[in-house]
Amino acid sequence: MQSGAIRPLANMLPRNLFNEEHDAFRETVRKFYEKEVVPNTEKYEQQQHVDRDLWNKAGALGLLCCTMPEQYGGSGVDRLYSMILIEEQAYAMDSATGFSLHSDIVANYINNFGNEEKKLKWIPKMASGETITAIAMTEPGTGSDLQAVRTSAVADGDDYVINGSKIFITNGYLCDMAIVVCKTGDAEKGSANLSLFIVEANRAGFSKGKPLHKIGMKGQDTCELFFDNVRVPKENLLGMLGMGFIMLMKELAWERMLVAIICQAGAEAAFAHTVQYSKDRKAFGKPIGTFQNSRFKLAELRTEIDFCRAYLDRCMQLQLEENLGIDAAAAAKYKISDMFSKVVDECLQLHGGYGYMLEYPIARAYIDNRANRIYAGTNEIMKELISRSL
Ligand SMILES: Cc1cc2nc3c(=O)[nH]c(=O)nc-3n(C[C@H](O)[C@H](O)[C@H](O)COP(=O)(O)OP(=O)(O)OC[C@H]3O[C@@H](n4cnc5c(N)ncnc54)[C@H](O)[C@@H]3O)c2cc1C
Repeated sequence: MQSGAIRPLANMLPRNLFNEEHDAFRETVRKFYEKEVVPNTEKYEQQQHVDRDLWNKAGALGLLCCTMPEQYGGSGVDRLYSMILIEEQAYAMDSATGFSLHSDIVANYINNFGNEEKKLKWIPKMASGETITAIAMTEPGTGSDLQAVRTSAVADGDDYVINGSKIFITNGYLCDMAIVVCKTGDAEKGSANLSLFIVEANRAGFSKGKPLHKIGMKGQDTCELFFDNVRVPKENLLGMLGMGFIMLMKELAWERMLVAIICQAGAEAAFAHTVQYSKDRKAFGKPIGTFQNSRFKLAELRTEIDFCRAYLDRCMQLQLEENLGIDAAAAAKYKISDMFSKVVDECLQLHGGYGYMLEYPIARAYIDNRANRIYAGTNEIMKELISRSL
C-alpha cells in the first residue's frame, strides 16, 4: 500500500471554508506532493533531510511564504492557503518537509517585526526557496520554560556576540538563516531578558550538528545549532531589544493552529486508509470491517474526527477574523493532537501485524504523529494556558 494515494473520505462532515480559487490551489499542492515528495520519502528518511532543490521547486510554484505581501515576493493570499498546504502535506502522509515553519512562522516574524530593509532582504529569497529558515528557541537545558534560555547576545561595538546552543531545531541542517532567541538582559530569568536575532548560517562560529536520530519524522532535518562567539551586526536584532517574549506571543495562536491543522488532516488520512484496509483484508472468510468491533471502532473514530473538524474550522474562521484566542487555539492543539494519536493507535490495531510494518502508511503515521503532542508547546502547557482563561 503506497502513501500519498488517498484523500479524506468524501462523506465526512462537509466544510465551507474554501472557494474555487482555494480548490485550484489545493490541486497544485496535491500534485506537487504526489510528484515531488511522495516518491522520495525513503530517500529523505535515509539522508535525514529533503533535497535542497525541493525548496526551489516549491518556491517556483508559489508554495512558500504565499501569505506574505506581493511586494516581498509572496502572493498576499489569506491563511486558508497555508491551511491547504498543511492539509495536503498530511494527506500525502509526508513528515519530511518543513515548509510551514519557514512560511508560516519565520516569515511572519520578519513581516511583523522587521523594518523595510529586512523584509526586502529576506522574504523574497524565502519565497523562492533560495533561503531556508529555522526558528531556534529550545535549548538542552530548557524548552517549555522559554524565559530560562541561556544563549546570550552581548553588545560589543557595532555587533552583538552570541554564545550558546539550541536543540531540536526543525530545518536546522539545511537552514541558511535562523531566528535565534537570546538572553540580552541581566536578570536570571524574566521575559524582558529575551531578544530575537537574525543569524546567517555562514557566520563564523555558527555550526550545526548532524540531524538528530528521531523515532519518527525521519526525513525532517532536526538539529542542534551551536554559537561560539558568533558576531552579528546590531541591525540583525529583530524588533526591539528585550521584546523577544512579547514578539513570540503575537502569532502563538496561529502557531498552535498549524499543529492542529496537520493533526486533523493526518487523522482523516489515517482513517481513510483504514476504512479501505478493513474492506480489503479478510479474516474468517469475510472483510475485517464487517466485524461489529471494527464497525463500532470506525464509527467512534469518525465521530471524533468530525467533532474536531467542526471545532478546528470554526477556530480557522476566527483566525481569519483575527479573533482567535490563545486559549481556543491551545485547546485545538491539545485536543486534536490527542485525537490524532488515538486515531492512529486504533487504526494500527485494525491493521493487525501489517500495521506494525513500516511500509504501511499507518505504521509511519503512528510514529510520526507522536511529536505533535510535544512541540509548539507541550499539551501539558496547553492545559496550563486553557486553565488560565478560566
Ligand atoms: C520533532 C521536534 C521538532 C522541534 N522543532 C523545534 C524548533 O524548530 N524550534 C525550537 O525552538 N524547538 C523545537 N522543538 C522543541 C520543542 O518545542 C520542545 O521539545 C518542547 O517545547 C518541550 O520542551 P522540552 O523538550 O525541553 O521539555 P520540558 O520542558 O523539559 O518538559 C518535559 C515534560 O515536563 C512537562 N512540563 C514542563 N513544564 C510544565 C509545567 N509548567 N506544567 C506541567 N508540565 C510541565 C512537559 O509537558 C513535558 O511533559 C522540537 C521538538 C521536536 C520533538
